[in-house]
Amino acid sequence: MTSLRFKAVEAASKKRPLEVAVPSERPSEYYAKYVFNQEKMFKYLPLSTYTKLREAIDEGTPLTMEVANEVADGMKRWAIENGVTHCTHWFQPLTEGTAEKHDAFVEHDRKGGMIENFSGKELIQQEPDASSFPNGGIRSTFEARGYSAWDPSSPVFIIGDTLMIPTVFISYTGEALDYKAPLKKALAALDKAATAVAQYFYPNVTKVTANLGWEQEYFLVDEDLYGARPDLMLTGRTLMGHDSAKNQQMNDHYFGAIPERVAEFMKDLEIQALELGIPCKTRHNEVAPNQFELAPIFEECSLAVDHNMLLMSLMRKIAKKHGFHCLLHEKPFAGINGSGKHNNWSLTTDTGTLLHGPGKTPEDNLRFAVFIVESLMAVYKHNGLLKASIISASNAHRLGANEAPPAIISAFLGRQITEILRKIEESTTEELFNIEGRHGIKLDIPQIPEIMVDNTDRNRTSPFAFTGNRFEFRAVGSSANCAAAMIVLNTAMAEALTLFKQRVDALIEGGQSIIGAVLDVLREDIKACKPIVFEGNGYSDEWKEEANRRGLDCETSVPLIIDRYLLPSSIKMFEDMNVMHKNELEARDEIKWETYQKRIQIESRVLGDLCMNHIIPVATKYQTVLVDNVQKIQSAFSTEDAKRLTSYNIDLIEKINVHTNTIAEQADKMVEARKQANLIENIREKAIAYHDNIVPYLEEIRRHIDKLELIVEDEMWTLPKYRELLFIR
Ligand code: ADP
Ligand code: MG
Repeated sequence: MTSLRFKAVEAASKKRPLEVAVPSERPSEYYAKYVFNQEKMFKYLPLSTYTKLREAIDEGTPLTMEVANEVADGMKRWAIENGVTHCTHWFQPLTEGTAEKHDAFVEHDRKGGMIENFSGKELIQQEPDASSFPNGGIRSTFEARGYSAWDPSSPVFIIGDTLMIPTVFISYTGEALDYKAPLKKALAALDKAATAVAQYFYPNVTKVTANLGWEQEYFLVDEDLYGARPDLMLTGRTLMGHDSAKNQQMNDHYFGAIPERVAEFMKDLEIQALELGIPCKTRHNEVAPNQFELAPIFEECSLAVDHNMLLMSLMRKIAKKHGFHCLLHEKPFAGINGSGKHNNWSLTTDTGTLLHGPGKTPEDNLRFAVFIVESLMAVYKHNGLLKASIISASNAHRLGANEAPPAIISAFLGRQITEILRKIEESTTEELFNIEGRHGIKLDIPQIPEIMVDNTDRNRTSPFAFTGNRFEFRAVGSSANCAAAMIVLNTAMAEALTLFKQRVDALIEGGQSIIGAVLDVLREDIKACKPIVFEGNGYSDEWKEEANRRGLDCETSVPLIIDRYLLPSSIKMFEDMNVMHKNELEARDEIKWETYQKRIQIESRVLGDLCMNHIIPVATKYQTVLVDNVQKIQSAFSTEDAKRLTSYNIDLIEKINVHTNTIAEQADKMVEARKQANLIENIREKAIAYHDNIVPYLEEIRRHIDKLELIVEDEMWTLPKYRELLFIR
């Protein structure tokens, strides 16, 4: 058999692990080898320049051109020592990936030769002609000026021969065209609001940082098999494929021994990631066959986002080297687990207090309760928007499927925290004064038991779960830029804390003690945020009904979920917190609708092609074999015997006919539906039409193809099957 499928299976089965040479140094020694971090700044910059750069990083003071030139000079020296010849601004446009445009270090020396040059201006700012990046109409193409500007708090790094400079990407008129610019604004708003609230408890606090620890899930598929699946190649997921008889039902993959080829890939990935300063910590098999996870130690949110973007591109590149293709799609295979990217999120003060972690004193515990409850207030008030921040054509397949959080945002607290909040809610101010004079507080909260951080009380079905000293936002998709979720979450938290402080301050002005005022407002909010807290099974149908009753956002249509960015409450939040203006939100929504519509359009076209060029011809060919067999039997046996002997095959012939006819018919109708949808001018309406009128065809056609896969002789089937994609490694 010469079909591409069998060649691919053979090639894949023959592959051996690609052994990775381990550096002679320890990981702690090669960690951040290719990052212009503090240590290198100190080594390559004059002391005064170093100090000014540190100020710019720590306090956000702008760099003068003179300082920028000195910084660029030092960076260039370091880069050249590492064999670098080019530099690029590296930014995160709204396409979900990263973008770069490389410039060589060379300049004319005015004597007919070349010198290696890299100026402060090139470091600080570039003007990539970026007309083809999505901008939602903010820049018209005829004056497609976009500017990228260095973010000194994100360290510069080296990949191959190129110096990579992390930047924001903004339009000529200052609107954000990327993820980083609004993220930085959200983090600044959060810092301001959280510092003010933290100071009720710890007057020395001057800065609060958001932490992010992401857990990246992914699939590896052999590169040859991947190449034999046009749907995987063009859409990132399988548009068809019958369940493998064995998949994850034995639970034998999760945390199992890592297959050898994969182990070498992981080793390679970790070494290169560590060299780029990504603090990799955990690696393991995930639930589905050929599914894996990598998690680093958490970091400051913006840096963590950069590192995740960088890691995803490393994964794709290194997978190729090991003969794999890395699938970051949220649901590459139907019927088995999809991939997420849990975002572990917490806040820390510059004095070292983890604001989402319990403490030792009663004040600590009160502070803890405040930050937990205000997180809930943020999530409650903007639950629809948070869902919008994580939804996409691909993540829609994962949410609500049986292993992933549902398309309803709720929060899980666990028994201990629920109990603490109940006690606070039920206690009275008087009671507090009576019991503990000095601070005017006695919450009757015993020392938080160790067991809390021990994760015994976990709920894997919750999209936003408290896990001891952080919240874990689990609905984020594996292919997403975490920044989208982090912009919304941090801005919502900034708003919740700002409103909290306004109310507390009003009470203090009215003569209340700080603690008394904090407690009063806290009690109010404990009551107010109850509808967002759900401790039960998020996968159940009862929850959907209950969530609806509670007024939580239960929308499941992607284009309609995207609307949530333009709710009055969303616009007000973003504008009040100075993160984005209405026109920026509108632009982002246009991009989201357009991206959604295009992705469904591509899936629909690919499926149409596959039906006509693979599925129907193959099924027909097999049908001919059966017909041939029937005819031969009929000519060799009596009518009576032939009837008996051919009945099974005749039945199959008819079944095949039903499926191929339906597929052809549905594929035609799908094309027609696309034509109709394409006539729609308004991009939102068009996206809705694709969701309502085209997606159902994808599912219906698939059902028939998967049936055919079971009928048609295995040797004739041209596309690698699930068992091959999922078990060969
Ligand atoms: P799991 O959720 O699978 O048990 P881990 O406990 O290994 O995973 O942690 C997952 C991620 O959470 C890691 O990136 C870890 O660094 C991060 N993390 C741990 N504590 C915090 C915290 N306080 N704030 C933010 N992230 C955290
Ligand atoms: Mg986790």
